[in-house]
Amino acid sequence: MSAIAPQAATTSPSVQPIVWAPPATAPKPRGLCTDCGISRTADDKRCGIACQFIAPDYPKLEEKVHGRARDEARPDELFFGPFRRMVRAALASPRPGAQWTGITTRIAERLLETGAVEAVLTMAPDPNDAWRPVPVIVTKAEGMQQCRGMRMGYAPLLALLEPVAARGYKRIAVIGIPCQVYALRVIEAELGLEQLYVVGTPCSDNTTTERFHQFLELISDEPQNIIYLEFRADYHVEIRYTDGRIKAIPFLMLPLSRLPSDFFPLTCRTCVDYTNVLADVTVGYMGGEGRQWLIVRNARGEQLLKLLGDEVVMQAPGSRGSRFGPVKGFLANVERAAGGLPLRSMPNWLRPIVGWLMPRVGPRGLEFARARVEMKAIETVLHLRREHAAKIKHMVPAHLWRLIAPYGLTPQPEELKPAEVSTKPGALS
Ligand SMILES: Cc1cc2nc3c(=O)[nH]c(=O)nc-3n(C[C@H](O)[C@H](O)[C@H](O)COP(=O)(O)OP(=O)(O)OC[C@H]3O[C@@H](n4cnc5c(N)ncnc54)[C@H](O)[C@@H]3O)c2cc1C
Ligand code: SF4
Ligand code: SF4
Repeated sequence: MSAIAPQAATTSPSVQPIVWAPPATAPKPRGLCTDCGISRTADDKRCGIACQFIAPDYPKLEEKVHGRARDEARPDELFFGPFRRMVRAALASPRPGAQWTGITTRIAERLLETGAVEAVLTMAPDPNDAWRPVPVIVTKAEGMQQCRGMRMGYAPLLALLEPVAARGYKRIAVIGIPCQVYALRVIEAELGLEQLYVVGTPCSDNTTTERFHQFLELISDEPQNIIYLEFRADYHVEIRYTDGRIKAIPFLMLPLSRLPSDFFPLTCRTCVDYTNVLADVTVGYMGGEGRQWLIVRNARGEQLLKLLGDEVVMQAPGSRGSRFGPVKGFLANVERAAGGLPLRSMPNWLRPIVGWLMPRVGPRGLEFARARVEMKAIETVLHLRREHAAKIKHMVPAHLWRLIAPYGLTPQPEELKPAEVSTKPGALS
């Protein structure tokens, strides 16, 4: 792992490490901020236009990146953004250390192997804390294996664009979470790149690495030995230990009520882009029923998937159950919590039974993904109303109101931009 300790730039490509972590400057103080890296660049004022938490314009960027904004008449684009196709997928040979089967890092390996890009910008684990992400520039396919797996926390991915420019790289790929990809797309045109591929993952419920360690301490009496954690689509959290043990805990058995109310920062409670709508391809799991879930959004996304050839096994995603009841229950719980009331608690004896039932009768496949997107949208509005009401007008895109209208959540006039008041976005559906 020593290859990823911060290293100063060198002039000769031959002595550059293949997984290079250039030293970063300090972040500038900002309000809502996940330290995507823009504030650490020379032109830090770009935060004003590039930030997802200030005044995002999704329709404009969707049009720029994919050639069209989401078409709400097409099934599922209201939920997941513009796409050409969605697939349930897995690598035929899952890669060790990957979060799922490793499709994300394999795409990046193929881009480097084929010479389609000169560098990939992504995250590697900190040598002193494997849960902490460290932004790295990878220039050889064999370097990507160090980057597999999910880490919890924020790290300034886009600060890497300056060393990339200094090295003269013109064809790059970026693997990023939605708040990083939004800012990247805003400044893309000024980067002078010949080719940019963006592989996005969905993202939700991120928090600082320090806070994540507290969570590990709550769910296990040997948190130091946990090397893997995932919130699976079958309503279980999977934990893997260094000695090979695997444990699955039903969501309902998690000690969430023991977490402090600010455990998840307001940024991640109010983030409006769960599925990374500005990536060329989104690689997640929510709609995959135990496999990975790919959202191929444009021609570049198709090229990226094609690079995998028959290494990837694909099938159509399924969709079962009904999300309406669980999402309504979620809304009631968030409303109670936002009103300062304790979360409705379930008797301990009932929890394992409901935990057993949910994977069997709850929403599954694409219906599960739709449910999660609606839950996230509900959280955004309720938490902003409570903690940052003045930001709603600027931060909440019109499509988000349409997602939550079926649950009776509609915008107040002061929560809309003047142009939206006349079109009444919440009134649809
Ligand atoms: C904080 C977080 C929350 C997520 N929540 C969801 C979710 O709710 N639903 C869902 O479907 N998917 C979610 N994902 C994505 C999911 O965990 C998998 O990463 C994704 O499905 C790809 O799996 P893979 O096996 O192809 O990835 P791998 O091949 O293992 O590659 C994972 C890639 O993610 C990068 N990465 C790891 N940690 C971070 C980080 N903190 N910030 C930025 N990049 C990182 C790695 O550098 C690597 O390039 C989340 C990811 C993160 C980082
Ligand atoms: S998230 Fe990025 S763009 Fe937004 S304030 Fe922070 S550094 Fe700036
Ligand atoms: S939940 Fe949203 S704001 Fe938080 S890290 Fe993920 S993409 Fe960024």
